[in-house]
Formats: sequence, structure tokens, C-alpha cells
Amino acid sequence: MSKSFHPPKRTLMGPGPSDVSPRVTAAMGAPTIGHLDPAFVGLMDDIKGLLQYAFRTKNKLTIPVSAPGSAGMESCFVNLLEPGDKAVVCQNGVFGGRMKENVERCGATAIMVQDDWGKPVDPNKVEEALKANPDAKLLAFVHAETSTGARSDAKALTALAHQYDALSLVDSVTGLGGIELDVDGWGIDAIYSGTQKCLSCPPGISPVSFGERAVDVIKNRKTKVQSWFLDMSLVMGYWDGTGGRTYHHTAPVNSMYGLHESLVMLAEEGLEKAWARHAYHHQALAAGIEAMGLRFVVDQEYRLPQLNSVTIPAGVEEAKVRAALLNDYNLEIGAGLGALAGKVWRIGLMGESSCKTNVLLCLGALDAVLTGMGAAINSGRAVAAANAVYKG
Ligand SMILES: *Cc1c(COP(=O)(O)O)cnc(C)c1O
Repeated sequence: MSKSFHPPKRTLMGPGPSDVSPRVTAAMGAPTIGHLDPAFVGLMDDIKGLLQYAFRTKNKLTIPVSAPGSAGMESCFVNLLEPGDKAVVCQNGVFGGRMKENVERCGATAIMVQDDWGKPVDPNKVEEALKANPDAKLLAFVHAETSTGARSDAKALTALAHQYDALSLVDSVTGLGGIELDVDGWGIDAIYSGTQKCLSCPPGISPVSFGERAVDVIKNRKTKVQSWFLDMSLVMGYWDGTGGRTYHHTAPVNSMYGLHESLVMLAEEGLEKAWARHAYHHQALAAGIEAMGLRFVVDQEYRLPQLNSVTIPAGVEEAKVRAALLNDYNLEIGAGLGALAGKVWRIGLMGESSCKTNVLLCLGALDAVLTGMGAAINSGRAVAAANAVYKG
């Protein structure tokens, strides 16, 4: 007979999920109530307000989609695109490729703008593509590319989209809560995120926000949205308090408790302070990584503080290192993905995971494991280099 499951206690420093605060797990353990219970309806309104704060937007259509980040991605594409439409899609890592898949599955054409993995999206190439395709309905790009650790200039790219009369559709799954993001200030038309990266919530929910221009496009569609579940015109009736709540689907009630608590924690800390915390602990980690003699994949200017891609030293069996970290230190770091598979480690400092304890644990463990394997690194310097930043 199967027994109860007791997960090991890990420190999560991969590309997500990140460490979850005990406050969030405690909130999720509260009694389940009905999803149309007036108390839950009140919670939903509060979540909307907190998400507006986190996204920096007044967009009415700002809601948590009841499914992971990939569903937020899909909800943006299926609502905004119709068969025969054209979209300019930027790819500088794994997730731009998924955007292309989404565009094509909507019966639309994807005009691809390619940049090397580890580089940000090049606004010059984007401008050329928008110029050459004046009928493009939208420009889609990834703000924080989790597969490489590169940050693209969401403000400049959104301005370009508008200059060429296209909507901007932004993936900020790893950006939200970790680096500057200003949906209204930058004029982003549609954006999606996830709970398990810098919001330090368990995975499973995807905050999305649609601006007025995007809502107009949705309202004036000629064809029905291909996905019933993700059709925003139906979901709006569920999340919009005005016309009385109608049943659309059963919200994951306890997951919403968790999201709510994590957003309360973000508001308590303050958005800008959270961004500064991510930058600070990244600095300490980077000092340690570089003191070891390891190199970053992304140039400093474009580095995401919450996702650190580090080149694997020659001759090191990277999977063995990750296994040793997991088995001996209960520490998870990420492997490379796609074009960077086998070439890099991805060290996450996202949300709750972005703290001094984790930085020092990771550097000490990596130093010890690599030294034990006889890797060509500068042994015994990493923790001191990070501590120098902390004492700074
Ligand atoms: C994690 C991630 C996603 C997908 O989110 P899931 O919750 O895994 O579905 C999409 N885009 C980016 C940039 C991500 O990091």
C-alpha cells in the first residue's frame, strides 16, 4: 500500500519553482471554501488589486489565470490573434520559440526576429521587422529570458511596437517582482507571469493583464477564441464583480490563498525594495562565482539578477555536480536548456530564494563539490568574496 508523501526539505535555486515562504504554505492550508462564497469573492477582488500593484497598472482586466505560466502565455495569444493575422516574435532563448508555436496554432503567421542565446532582443532588428511588416498586429517578446538569464528592454520594445501601430505582448514570468516592470508607464498591452518564480508561490497560477487597446481587440474579434477555457470574454464575467459572479470554472481556492499571501508579502516589502533585494544578492553571488574563476553567459549590462547562467568549467560532468548538490546539500540548481543544455548551470535567486543564506550556501557547496572533483577553479575564495559584498 502507498504511504503519505513527505517531500525532502530542499533549497530551491533553479529556474523555478523558488523557495516558498512558510506564510504562503500556511495560507494554503486554510480550510477550503466555496469559490462563489462571498468571502472568496472578496479575496478575488483583493488579489486583483494586489496584482495591479505588482504589475503597476490600473488595467481592469488583471487576473490570475487558473493554470501555470504557459496558460498565461496561451491566453494572451489566443485572445489577441485570429486566423490570418501576423505577429512579430522575438526569440533569444527557449520561450520565444514557444511564442512562435502559439502564434502558429492560432492560424496566424509568425515573423521571427532571432538573437543569440544570452543576448537581449535587438531593438534595431525589431524595428526592421516592424517596418517590413506594417500589417503586424502585435510584437511579442520575453522580458526576462529564463533559459539564458538575459533581460530585454521591455520599455523600448513596447515603444517600438506602438510606433508601428502594433500591440506589445510581454512574457514577464520571471520578471514580475524581481526586476523593474511598469505596465502602465511603459504602455504594455498584454502581459503574463507566473507564481513560482519571483513571487515565491508554488506553481500553478498565471497572473495576466490586458490594457484597453488589447481589450478592444478582444471585443472586436470576428471569430470565437479557439480555447473555451482561456477565452477572456468568458473569464471576464467570472472575475468582474459588476454583473454578479457567474460560474465559469472552479477556481483553485487554496492556491489563490497562497497567491494572495505572497502578494501581501510583496506589498509589505514594497516593489522597489524587492527589486533592490534581487539586485543586491545577485551582486554577492556574482562576486563569489567570479572569484572561483567561473564565467557568466550574459554581459553584465543585460544580466537578470534572479537568473544566473554560469559556464561549466572544462572537463566537469555537470549532472554529477547537480546531483552532489542535491544529495549532499539539499540544494537544487538548474541545468541548461535548449541550445545551452550541458553548457551552463542556471542559478536562481528568485523571490524568497534571493537571500544571503542561499547565496552563501550555494557558493560554499559549489566550491566544495567542484574542488572535490578536481575541477580547475580558484578553491576557497567564493564565500569570502560574497561576504566582502555583504560587509561592503
Ligand atoms: C517558467 C516560464 C514560463 C512557463 O511557466 P510555467 O509555469 O512553467 O508554465 C514561460 N516563460 C518564461 C520566461 C518562464 O520562465
